[in-house]
Amino acid sequence: QTIGDFFDDMAARQGDRDALVSAHEKKRLSYLELQRESNRLASALFKLGLRPGDRVGIWSHNNVPWVLMQLATAKAGIILVNINPAYRTSELEYALNKVACKALVTMKSFKTSDYVGMLRELAPELATAQPGELQAARLPHLRTVAWIDTPADSGELPGLMRFSALLESGSADDAKVAATSKTLRATDPINIQFTSGTTGFPKGATLTHRNILNNGFFIGECMKLTPEDRLCIPVPLYHCFGMVLGNLACLTHGSTIVYPNDGFDPITVLQTVQAEKCTGLHGVPTMFIAELDHPRFKEFDLSTLRTGIMAGSPCPTEVMKRVVEQMHLREITIAYGMTETSPVSCQSSTDTPLEKRVSTVGTVQPHLEIKIIDPASGDIVPRGQSGEFCTRGYSVMHGYWEDPEKTREAIDSDGWMHTGDLATMDDEGYVNIVGRIKDLVIRGGENIYPREIEEFLYRHPKVQDVQVVGLPDKKYGEELCAWIIVKPGQTATADEIRDFCKGQIAHYKVPRYIEFVTEFPMTVTGKIQKFKIREAMKGRLG
Ligand code: ATP
Ligand code: MG
Repeated sequence: QTIGDFFDDMAARQGDRDALVSAHEKKRLSYLELQRESNRLASALFKLGLRPGDRVGIWSHNNVPWVLMQLATAKAGIILVNINPAYRTSELEYALNKVACKALVTMKSFKTSDYVGMLRELAPELATAQPGELQAARLPHLRTVAWIDTPADSGELPGLMRFSALLESGSADDAKVAATSKTLRATDPINIQFTSGTTGFPKGATLTHRNILNNGFFIGECMKLTPEDRLCIPVPLYHCFGMVLGNLACLTHGSTIVYPNDGFDPITVLQTVQAEKCTGLHGVPTMFIAELDHPRFKEFDLSTLRTGIMAGSPCPTEVMKRVVEQMHLREITIAYGMTETSPVSCQSSTDTPLEKRVSTVGTVQPHLEIKIIDPASGDIVPRGQSGEFCTRGYSVMHGYWEDPEKTREAIDSDGWMHTGDLATMDDEGYVNIVGRIKDLVIRGGENIYPREIEEFLYRHPKVQDVQVVGLPDKKYGEELCAWIIVKPGQTATADEIRDFCKGQIAHYKVPRYIEFVTEFPMTVTGKIQKFKIREAMKGRLG
């Protein structure tokens, strides 16, 4: 089945029930409305001259047009390209040209980001172009740009199309859409997602209907989603966390998608959970921390919450415990995965015993294989020992877009995806992610997993958030460095932190450098870019 087929079946069953609530846009769409509007948009995309297999970009925060684009492209067989709203001109130029996008849907502006301004900078030709006929020197493939207009901001912008006008140009029962939809196969590429860029330059993973539809379904199964569930999704749609763990998990279970805001803001999340009586909440660890530590946290009634997913980066046990106790998320699960694997490979389920649920990433998802190997020899390591996590099955991407060489480096000839993550597996099959191969610190011959030190430092009462990296050192090869954010109103000293470590962890694991900061370098998905911490320290240490 394709995403379109599956969605049509669900829409027929769910009818007038809520499919989507966008709190910041004050919009609600039922399953039938969502179906009608996405059919209309698919028809409009055909009228623009787009054909199955063409690429169309979406460069926007979470909103209704984003979901319509996701479903319309799936029906039309057009490949949706998720573009990070934090990208600036050079990254946008790279992404659009890399995959030869013919059309782009974007916001006019958001806070300090002037999206249309950036596009005009790249393509001054826009000023005089007719929609559909753009010819720009630096964006040679791009023909059409649509901007997401709102009732409050609906003026014309020269050369650009209003999204609402684009939508109106289509017909909700276009025979061509229905006919095309029947010719699509589940193994066709339907989506290109760029990786987060946590370790360097983002890579474009090409994913099929089969990849992400199946993954979305099994993710929802782990949370036991039903049509009664209303899932709050503050994580970005441009990333698989929002698009697959959020949108597709909900749409494959008849649940309701709820967007609190278009950029992350802890207060709006708490307000929306309360107002919409959400039963689920997603987030990366830093988002949950920001919500829990917000001075107004206690004002909100979060008692409707039951489940959700914490994922994306290491999920500290302490944070999981607080989320279970203070946010009522007794059935929250942890998921582990990467963009290249649609994304989830391991996930706990609501049935997993609490102790395992807060301390591991769960077990392998149905219909997938996993193994943990010694990266040097390729042999499977004994249970309990750490090695590189590899996975095989329906979830492994089609490949990096037009990059067979990089694809071969990631996926071996037997179909195993090599993730670059270090993991262990216990006797019962529960997996723990201990870090990335690239972040492993080797100090004087001892392997140190920054994750272990971070977990330990989280227990310090003044520590709100902490990141540990290795820095080059003449004597030991590498030395540990901790960046710490203290809780609001607190101050701490490096000696105080070191004293806390003494006698509790081995002396070589006590960070040599301790810095107090107010924020970490982060991707918009809220992932901490450790390579930037290392770079910043290089400057500081001279
Ligand atoms: P890039 O590949 O561009 O450097 P990235 O790897 O962060 O960025 P994503 O595909 O968004 O891009 O993230 C996948 C990675 O996130 C995994 O490889 C893993 O390192 C980390 N990760 C995801 N979930 C978890 C989790 N539950 N626990 C620990 N790490 C996780
Ligand atoms: Mg990666």
